[in-house]
Amino acid sequence: MRSLLIILSFLASHLYGQEPCATMMRSNDLESRSESYHAGMEEMRNMASQFEAGVLNANLRGTDEMVIPVVVHVVYREDVNNISMEQINSQIEALNRDFSWSQSDKDKIPSVWRDLGKNSGLIFKLADKDPDGNFTNGVTRTKTNVENIGDTNAYYRTSRGGIDPWVQSHYINIWVCEIGNNTLGYTYLPSTSAEPNDGIVMAPRAFGMIGTATPPYDKGRTLVHEMGHYFGLRHLWGTEEGECTNTDYMNDTPWQNEANFGCPNFPTVSCPSEDDGDMFMNFMDYTRDTCALFFTTNQVEFMQLVLLTSKVTLTHSEAVTGLAEQGRAEFNVFPNPASNIVTINFTGVESNAYSLINALGQIESIGKLNQGLNQIDVHELKAGVYLLKTDNWHEHIVVQ
Ligand SMILES: [Zn+2]
Repeated sequence: MRSLLIILSFLASHLYGQEPCATMMRSNDLESRSESYHAGMEEMRNMASQFEAGVLNANLRGTDEMVIPVVVHVVYREDVNNISMEQINSQIEALNRDFSWSQSDKDKIPSVWRDLGKNSGLIFKLADKDPDGNFTNGVTRTKTNVENIGDTNAYYRTSRGGIDPWVQSHYINIWVCEIGNNTLGYTYLPSTSAEPNDGIVMAPRAFGMIGTATPPYDKGRTLVHEMGHYFGLRHLWGTEEGECTNTDYMNDTPWQNEANFGCPNFPTVSCPSEDDGDMFMNFMDYTRDTCALFFTTNQVEFMQLVLLTSKVTLTHSEAVTGLAEQGRAEFNVFPNPASNIVTINFTGVESNAYSLINALGQIESIGKLNQGLNQIDVHELKAGVYLLKTDNWHEHIVVQ
């Protein structure tokens, strides 16, 4: 009996371990239960292998910017966790700082790796339109009675004390709620299947830079790490610790045997083949916020690839209208995806020059958008993702 108890407690600690990030545990668990998620993960692993082999890349130019709508669901049991709008804004600011390679502490990156940083072009904005088309501040608030709701599957179900997600093809859903077991946050690695729990779960003590955010997790970098997972990044040690040969699919991160915590000294070597040792100051390790400093070029390019393939609808979302910005012209593109003619309804007064750019960054056509309906013939273009842009606006168009 006693040995059974020991085994049970071992299993419990194994299932609900002390890792700050529960993404791998959650993703592995879902993959073992869901055929569709498993199949979609297989496709994504194939894509990652092609990326690693250098045969697949989004080939975005440094100037491409993509607005990603975010909705934050605050699910609180204690009032202290009904976090302020200022705290939420501080988290969005931290995300945009680190995804645009604007972090002021990048000089702490060892010089051997400092040149690897890169602007992703992703711009996270709280949605200003909800799924019903009404204006919103991009935040929902739900009082719950469920303790540690982030450890359950109730957080994404209104019927069980949480709140249903907004349509995941158009919003990144972030639930900020109690999580037990010292977990700071988690998400599910992307799959080509649509899953009801798609989104990110964050503990209030690791969310944002003020309010309930608590050192050493008060620089907003837990969500930067989880957003990396959301767009397909693995931990630096690959899917499992304990080997120097588990790939994270990136060619510009060194082999790494296990997680680093706190703030190690450079160099810290876990795999003898690596003279410079572990890249412990990368966002995809477990070091604390003041020591987690950057994504590499490969990591940025892989996230862009995932965004423009399995999550491309996020970039078409009309959930961030920017209508609050005075005098801004509106562009509506339809149909998208398209196979013959793309129509752009342009409400601006002055005409705008546009260019249509393919995935290699080459210009396919140029022209002018005038007030009213404009048409672009795309039937001779190869299937793929194209960028339609003017000086102050752009949209990705999928030709099929
Ligand atoms: Zn993680």
